[in-house]
Amino acid sequence: MLQVKSFEFSPIQENTYIVYNEFNNCIIIDPGCYFDEEKETLVNFIDKMKLVPKMLLNTHCHLDHVFGNKFVAEKYGLHLRIHKGEQKVLEFAPASGLMYNMPFDNYTGEIDFIEEDEIIKLDEDELKVLFTPGHSPASLSFYDEKDGFVISGDALFRQSIGRTDLPGGDYELLIASIKAQLLSLPPATKVYSGHGPVTSIGEEKRSNPFLN
Ligand SMILES: [Zn+2]
Ligand SMILES: [Zn+2]
Repeated sequence: MLQVKSFEFSPIQENTYIVYNEFNNCIIIDPGCYFDEEKETLVNFIDKMKLVPKMLLNTHCHLDHVFGNKFVAEKYGLHLRIHKGEQKVLEFAPASGLMYNMPFDNYTGEIDFIEEDEIIKLDEDELKVLFTPGHSPASLSFYDEKDGFVISGDALFRQSIGRTDLPGGDYELLIASIKAQLLSLPPATKVYSGHGPVTSIGEEKRSNPFLN
């Protein structure tokens, strides 16, 4: 069984997630830790829970989701895993960091690409990869059917959706992605977004103003 721990990091208030199981193995998704204290907070949780990080994933590569990639990869000896279509976004992240006055050291190690229909395994647990582009060119969501949650990146938020005015953004495509890939999940499915509070598929289907 996978449990989800979330952290809100950086002035951009990005949600970083650790999903972990009863064997103390974990996956770190979108480490947005920018300041040293935030990196410490992440490490302290991993230490306190005696977790072993096995994977580093990004839903997409906007700067707020990749600030801590290099730190996490080096600290835990991991390769970054992203969709191939996000590589250019990753390469652009330091330039956008300068624009936001938030310089950072980008991850430059090996990348293991994630396939669109891949099942990511952590021991007995599985995260199904859902292709949800539109906010960025190749955004992914990670769905745990057994435990009933999805990590949606910046595709879907509580009562909102991701912006589509950044390079590679596409409003129609985002709406289509959300409807096909996310709203088709069981209503009780919890949604852990890239920003803001947790919600559920049912709640967003009922009352998200962008989806009616
Ligand atoms: Zn984003
Ligand atoms: Zn974001």
